[in-house]
Formats: sequence, C-alpha cells, structure tokens
Amino acid sequence: MHSDMRTAKGLFLCILAVTCLAATPAGNNEVNQVIQAALLPSPLEDNLRRLTDEIGGRVPGTPAMQHAVQWGMQALSGAGADSVHSEAFEIPNSWAEGATEMTATTTYEVSPKQVGGGTILTSFRVRAVSLAWAPALAPVKHVPVIDIGEGKDADFQKAGEVAGKILLVHTTVLKKWDDLFAEYMNAPPVIDRAVKARAKAIAFMATRQHDILYRHINSQSGEIDRLPMVIVAREDGERMARLLAAGQLVWADLSIPNQIGGPIRAANVVGEIRGSERPDEFVILGAHLDSWELGTGALDDGCNAAMVVDALRAIKASGVTPKRTIRFILFSGEEEGLLGSRAYAFTHRGELDKAQGVIIYDAGTGKTTGFSLGGRTDVRSLARLLIAPFAQFGVNDLATDMEWGSDHFDFMLEGVPTFLADQEEANYLENYHAVSDTYDKVDFAQLKKHVAEAAGLSIELANLPQRLGPRLTHDQIEQTMHDTNSLEMFRAFGLWDDWQSGKRGRQK
Ligand SMILES: [Zn+2]
Repeated sequence: MHSDMRTAKGLFLCILAVTCLAATPAGNNEVNQVIQAALLPSPLEDNLRRLTDEIGGRVPGTPAMQHAVQWGMQALSGAGADSVHSEAFEIPNSWAEGATEMTATTTYEVSPKQVGGGTILTSFRVRAVSLAWAPALAPVKHVPVIDIGEGKDADFQKAGEVAGKILLVHTTVLKKWDDLFAEYMNAPPVIDRAVKARAKAIAFMATRQHDILYRHINSQSGEIDRLPMVIVAREDGERMARLLAAGQLVWADLSIPNQIGGPIRAANVVGEIRGSERPDEFVILGAHLDSWELGTGALDDGCNAAMVVDALRAIKASGVTPKRTIRFILFSGEEEGLLGSRAYAFTHRGELDKAQGVIIYDAGTGKTTGFSLGGRTDVRSLARLLIAPFAQFGVNDLATDMEWGSDHFDFMLEGVPTFLADQEEANYLENYHAVSDTYDKVDFAQLKKHVAEAAGLSIELANLPQRLGPRLTHDQIEQTMHDTNSLEMFRAFGLWDDWQSGKRGRQK
C-alpha cells in the first residue's frame, strides 16, 4: 500500500512537471542568456586573489574578517547589486591559536661498553596545531603519551588508566566525502570518553599525509570545547605509535597557548537584485566568506564567495530581469558551526514562507555533479527540469538526503527548499582547512561553469511562474528526517536535541 501511494504521488508530480515544462525558464532563452553572460571574462580571478592573497585567512573576530566584509560589500556593489548591506550576529567566544609546541621524548639503549653507555633520552619535535575553539593548555612537561587506537570504548578499556595522560588517536587518511563526514562523526565520542577518564589532552593524527596540518573543530555553536586537543602531523603521530608498539615509553612536552576571549560580533554580507514583479518573494544564492587561517581559504570557500559575486554580475550583464528578488549572501561564522546562516534563518524566520529556494556552494572547484535537495522528494520533478540546462557542464544528479555541514542546513530545518551543490572531491579534501588551501589550487575554468550554474539556477527560481514547493511544517520536516534515515546523524552532532527543544529549526 505504501508503494502504491508513492506511485500515485509520483504520477501526480509527473503531470505537474509536464504542465510546467513550457512555462519554466529551462524551456526559454533567459537561462541561456545568463549562462552566456557568466562564461564571459570577468573580475572573478582578481576578486579572489584580493580576498585570499591580500586579505588572507578569515576567522571571525580578526581584522582579516573585517577586511573581508568590506571586500564583500565592495565586490557586490561593483557587480551591480541594487543594494548591499551587512547583518551582524554574535559568536559566544573569540579564539586564536598561539605558538603551539610539542616535543616527544623516548629512550634509547646505548651499549654499556660504549662511552656514555646506558639508557639515554632522545627527543624530536612533533608538528602540531590546536583544534579550533579548544581550550589552552599551560606548558606541561614529560607527560606520558599512550596509544588509544581509534578511541573506541574497547580501546579505552584496553588502555587502563589514562588520567593525566596524552591520548594519541589513530585516524584514516581522507580520500572521499564519506571519510570527511566520518572524521566529524568519530571525534565527539572520543572526546566524551577522554573527558570522563580525565585525560590531559588528545592528539589526533592528521588525516592528511606529508606533514600537512589543518584546522578541525568539534564544538557546534562557537562555545569553547572541553579538553585541550591537537592535530599532529601524520608522520610524527605514526612515529610515536611505532615507538609505543615496540614497547618504548614516550613522553611529551606540550604547550597550547590559545587566546580565548568573550563574545564577538560577526556579519553576513547581503547584496540584492530586486524582483520586478514579486519583490517580497526571494531566492538566496550563498557561500561562506569566513575561512580558517592556516591557509587562505581559497577552496573553502573563498572561490565560491567570489563565484556568488560573479553570479550577480552575470545576471546583471545578461539583461534578464528577475521577477522575484535574488539575495546574494556571503555568510560568516560557517566554520564555527554554520553560525551566520543559522542567525540569518532565525532572524528572517518570519519571511521564510516567501523563500523560493536556497542555493549553496561550499566544496571548492570540483565539478558540480548535481544538487542535494535536503530530503525534498516533492520538488524533485520540477528541480529536474531546472537543472537540465546545466547538463552541458555535467550537472545531472539530484539527491534527496538531508546533508549537514553547510549553510543550507538551517534553511532546510525551516522547511525551505534547498539546493546544495554536490561536487566531485577534486583537490578539495587534500587541502581541506589546511595550510595548503591557497589561490593556486583553484580551477578557474571549472569555477566559471559554477558561476553559470549558480546564476542560471537563481534566475530560473526567481522567474518560475509558480512556487517550487511549499515551506514544510515542523511535522513534515521531522517526517523527512525519518524518511531519509537522518536521525543518527542528527543525534551524533547533538542536533536532534536542538530540534526537539525548538532551539533550532521550524517551530511547531
Ligand atoms: Zn566551507
């Protein structure tokens, strides 16, 4: 019976889609005009060069982030926005890393017959960075390091007493999107166990090889985490693990002088092209302006911030007039827990009935393969028509899972249709949040195609004769979580409690 109902629903959507075909912009010239305008030369490269090379990594609360907000205001104005403004929100704590230092010491047996024979101590420097929004650790010396495996329950039981020790945690090398998701999913329970067992600190092995260090965060709302934690270069971590496996003792000197302060003001930047017929209805095209600071946040997500600016320029240059308003938003505080988009969705909750759709790009310059619709099977047929003009760029797939991890998330939880660009990994993961996320990694030929897709989809949504789909109610959103088997993910990140308590997402 369930499957019959699904067939009937599918048939209805199919009829609706066919009726709409003639009326969608996909069937006329507007979207093609925008695509053509998007592919012409533009200030895209220079805008991104200024954002990454001149301004650099952009953490909220720093001068670089303030410069980036100015950059966004000027770039959106320069691209021809009808209006540009910023919207402030608060992040509970500021955070900056100091000069984190770690040295490992072990023993070496020199033959007693040799001069200086006996047990001697040998040391080596461990390349390490603090986890973001983790507490500081005043210098400690000669603290025992123990191998805690992957940090599962059984690993802790096997390890025995861990109080006051530094726990070395094994990880998997990052290759695919699923690995990245696992990195976020796996850490919180390890931290729970370490806190409970009163460990001194955690040292996670880097998931990248070749000494690459990167930022990772486990706190969800800009709050300071519970335990001092570092990521250690994979090669140094493996060396310590081999020593311990060989029965050697390993101690570490560790200093994590993070600078932590009180609440900070951050700001999203919003540029608009006002709709000619239904200005109060709106489409959002967004990417995040903030980044981590070990590199310069080129792939994550500077390139797409520059892309959003260029999409505005392309629509203006095309001469096509949007009937609904398009808001081009550069979000801040994304890296600290989607804080800018969360604040925006919360503040604008009263007008989200008028949101036609939210499009987000946040995965560097890997080819767009399609879009994730946030669990919305009801908009799939119409969305299929909307993406048809981008098949020339390889955009073909629509996924109906509920993804976490970017700025679509709180709009999805408010029942608004969302389009999160699904992209190939390309070079995104190896440089993710890392020292190596710099301008030279950006594939501009591909990025121009993303400008065409994002600008094209924005104009289609803005000029679609009808609404793409209704804003879902609280109960419909919760049903979607069940239908897409998303509960485990919501629970793992503490999002289920936030949803249940009404702290986050559409109210009952
Ligand atoms: Zn990002």
